[in-house]
Amino acid sequence: MPRPIRATISLPALSYNLQVVRNHLELAHQRCQDKTGNPLRLPFIWAVIKANAYGHGLENGIRGFAQADGLALIDLNDAIRCREQGWDKKILMLEGFFEQADLPYLQENNITTSVHHIEQIKMLEKMPAGKPLDVFLKLNTGMNRLGFRPADCAARFQDLRALQKQGRVGNIGFMSHFSSADGQPGGVDEPVRLMNQATHGLPGALSLCNSAATLRYPSLAFNERDNWVRPGVCLYGASPFDTATETAAAFGLQSAMSLRAKLLSVQHIEKGESVGYGATFTAAHHTRVGVVACGYADGYPRHAPTGTPVMVNGVRTKIIGRVSMDMLTVDLDPVPRAQEGDWVNLWGQNGPHIDEVASHAGTISYELMCALAKRVPVDIEE
Ligand SMILES: *Cc1c(COP(=O)(O)O)cnc(C)c1O
Repeated sequence: MPRPIRATISLPALSYNLQVVRNHLELAHQRCQDKTGNPLRLPFIWAVIKANAYGHGLENGIRGFAQADGLALIDLNDAIRCREQGWDKKILMLEGFFEQADLPYLQENNITTSVHHIEQIKMLEKMPAGKPLDVFLKLNTGMNRLGFRPADCAARFQDLRALQKQGRVGNIGFMSHFSSADGQPGGVDEPVRLMNQATHGLPGALSLCNSAATLRYPSLAFNERDNWVRPGVCLYGASPFDTATETAAAFGLQSAMSLRAKLLSVQHIEKGESVGYGATFTAAHHTRVGVVACGYADGYPRHAPTGTPVMVNGVRTKIIGRVSMDMLTVDLDPVPRAQEGDWVNLWGQNGPHIDEVASHAGTISYELMCALAKRVPVDIEE
């Protein structure tokens, strides 16, 4: 029998969140139409399933996002697995390809790639013609990780045009990634200006928006071009923002990942006694301590301090003391009837929101989702 810890991945929540994002875009689209009177196109959605679908499992992502227009990821093996699982719509490699040997696989599997580096263009020039690859020219508009300078856009576009004429490149689009869509308002203004300037007069689709930009600035996702948004974290039911108002619940998103574990033991400690490594929590009075079968080796953040919320039998209480490798300890005073064998909900359904746990631990829910450990058995909710 496995240890008494379970993760649950809800496929209906994944599909639901995708629809939430679509509705959000459609509402904003209607408002924009009213203002301009121009026929603006609704964007297509690439569901981002990198990092094992943010820890939810690649296959679960493929199934949960069946209604997406495409899937976006970074690992070529995962992209091929998408095809093997029957995904026949678009697939985008967010970081493109890494070596010449990747290219036949992209061609064979009809995978769209970003092109962000001159070396990639050289590799495309050496690729056999005849099975043209759709590409997105990636521009660096301030993130300063991947992409060409906006000033080089026209020249790189011409390189790709030449490759297009040779039958090596198919459709050419443009993409960029925001560094600050979740930060201060106006954080996307300069990147958008640079992007408009760089692509002015050049035909092709556009892809700019991650979760934060899709939720906060949906009107960026439609203009006269074809547009592709690239939401990730919000599709899994978490918020990309750390503001008090822009919560996952406020956007109507549902948690797709839940984590729970059983109480292994209940300890009674007296005033002045402490709990766990480093004795970081000392009881101010007689306290019932619940020992839970979940630790940092399961993916629960070790940085979660005393006070991080958990739910026991539907009652909200908190972690006390340090999280250890295989166990953590909770305050059972608010739950006098809790006993060994009861489930403790750590995040997701019947638990605190994963964003809350992340915030207590000084991180973001992205990290918690991705860190769910292999050793945790997973139930899939169909
Ligand atoms: C990860 C990623 C996304 C999705 O980001 P979220 O914040 O999870 O929505 C979009 N675009 C690129 C290029 C990415 O790397």
